[in-house]
Amino acid sequence: MGLHALVFTVLLVPFPTWVSLLLCIGFYCIRMFGLTAGYHRGLAHKSYETSRWFQFCIDWWGCAAMQKGPLWWAEQHRRHHRYSDQEGDPHSPVVSTTSFFAKLRGFFWAQMGWVLADKNDKNLSRVQDLAKFPELRMLNRFHWMPGLCLIPICYAIDGWSGVVYGFVVSTVVLYHGTFSVNSFCHIFGTRRFNTKDQSRNNWWVAIFTLGEGWHNNHHHQQRSARQGFMWWEYDISYYVLWLLSKLGLVWNLHQPRLETIEDETKEDLIMTG
Ligand SMILES: [Zn+2]
Ligand SMILES: [Zn+2]
Repeated sequence: MGLHALVFTVLLVPFPTWVSLLLCIGFYCIRMFGLTAGYHRGLAHKSYETSRWFQFCIDWWGCAAMQKGPLWWAEQHRRHHRYSDQEGDPHSPVVSTTSFFAKLRGFFWAQMGWVLADKNDKNLSRVQDLAKFPELRMLNRFHWMPGLCLIPICYAIDGWSGVVYGFVVSTVVLYHGTFSVNSFCHIFGTRRFNTKDQSRNNWWVAIFTLGEGWHNNHHHQQRSARQGFMWWEYDISYYVLWLLSKLGLVWNLHQPRLETIEDETKEDLIMTG
């Protein structure tokens, strides 16, 4: 929340230099990739395999997004899939009442509230498989560290303009980028698969979350490293993972079961006439 207040520091440096703009975009993209490919597809869903050192590198960048530690994140996310849009889901925007204010509250809870509340902070019962790695436990304990390391780097590269745009603005935009998957992708968009939750595919969320907007696809086949199932469903995180697999840094990327997709799409078409 404090970082949101710090956004007003843009008033001190009203015009970013090209270098700070590049820092802002660069640190946004690499940290978003750390969240989507590291925290989400790697830790929470184990949709590919990698070495311990590369797992640590990628999760370091996820942690630098300042959205808490890897074990906490994976725990919350596994709960989200287990209880999707039901009692027990840590960040569902779906509410059963028709009240406008209740809906608005649900939206803000899914967008921000759940990460600010500290209930369940210590509960790691669903991530015992990950807690066995001491380096992940260390990242989880000192989760502010990777993000704060970016401040001196930004300052060394482009002074206060670098810190304001490369760190503050980039981090706040990153918060809302990733949290949009929790809120918008359970309210707005299309449903290819009739999953038990309210997950939706949303093309514009997929743009700024490097492919995480195909959220109904993801709820249907959670283990798939690829979330864009059709050729036109861009999934930058998967393209980078595929490239990394060619370099031998990751392997055994789980693929979606395409025959199921074709069958269900046909059913959908029949149902909708
Ligand atoms: Zn979801
Ligand atoms: Zn997931």
